[in-house]
Amino acid sequence: MYDVIIIGAGPSGLTAAIYTTRANLKTLVLAGPTWGGQLMLTTLVENFPGFPDGILGPELMQNMRKQAEKTGAEIKDIEFKSADFSRQPFEIVAGEDKFTAKSVIVATGADARWLNVPGEKERIGRGVSSCATCDAAFFRNKNVIIVGGGDSAMEEALVLANVATSVKLVHRRSEFRASDIMQKRVKENPKITTVLNSEIIEVLGENRVQSVKLKNNQTNEVIDLPIDGVFVAIGHIPNSKRFTGIDVDKEGYILPKDHFHTNVEGVFVAGDVHDRQYRQAITAAGYGAAAALEVQNWLATK
Ligand code: NAP
Repeated sequence: MYDVIIIGAGPSGLTAAIYTTRANLKTLVLAGPTWGGQLMLTTLVENFPGFPDGILGPELMQNMRKQAEKTGAEIKDIEFKSADFSRQPFEIVAGEDKFTAKSVIVATGADARWLNVPGEKERIGRGVSSCATCDAAFFRNKNVIIVGGGDSAMEEALVLANVATSVKLVHRRSEFRASDIMQKRVKENPKITTVLNSEIIEVLGENRVQSVKLKNNQTNEVIDLPIDGVFVAIGHIPNSKRFTGIDVDKEGYILPKDHFHTNVEGVFVAGDVHDRQYRQAITAAGYGAAAALEVQNWLATK
């Protein structure tokens, strides 16, 4: 019987584990076969405090994992399958095994939605990115594309315009779905131009991004556009599908009640699986710490 099972081993899950183990709670982390979260797909991380020269995303995650293991977390690289939250203690199935726990922290994160076009996946971290806040600084005085028509795309275009020479905002329709205020800011920025009714159909380049094939979906014209970076901001997919009985919003983000509790007593949530707004490694880690402290309080009252 574990005091707490943490599902997910990105910044939020591993930070939660560091806190729960240091509070002497018997902790199991179900990391899954591809543990580490979105930072495993990035190169240099320059905005995580404590690393003045930056740190590689996978190295940062290795360090977090090592720290969680050192403080006593048991970490299993097996995939979470299902949970019975209808009675306590909770029963969790992962891999071929069954585990029981008094409490659970869901920290399964979210995955960036990608275009899924040829040449994109292999250039993630080599000119293709899903986070301007994280990677804009690598595109100082370069020409970049941002794809999407929602608030994220507008926000990221503005972040990029602070450093890049030019920003092309590529959207598949003739209208943006972003809020008026965000659209206005983008329109007023002289570095940003919009390319409507258009889709990237291929990302090209030796080793890193050098150009894209851009198709106008009204005329079917395809052009080769030289470019240094492609930022994809077409939404995220929260990893919440397997949690039956846990309340989510219409897009699948888990709905936290006060203090990181879900609608099920004893089940807490932390990180990008509930946070649609900030989505940073440091905020996810902060949520992990907070959820772990709430678990401690909750177990103490039991
Ligand atoms: P979103 O609102 O769902 O917008 C996604 C955009 O990506 C849409 O314009 C969509 O096109 C496009 N898209 C989806 N799949 C695509 C594909 N395969 N190829 C090309 N384009 C594709 O997502 P979001 O912008 O990440 O925002 C999520 C939520 O967070 C929203 O509620 C938003 O308001 C909120 N948010 C708010 C702020 C802020 O207020 N500052 C900042 C960020 C996010 P279509 O329009 O054609 O469907």
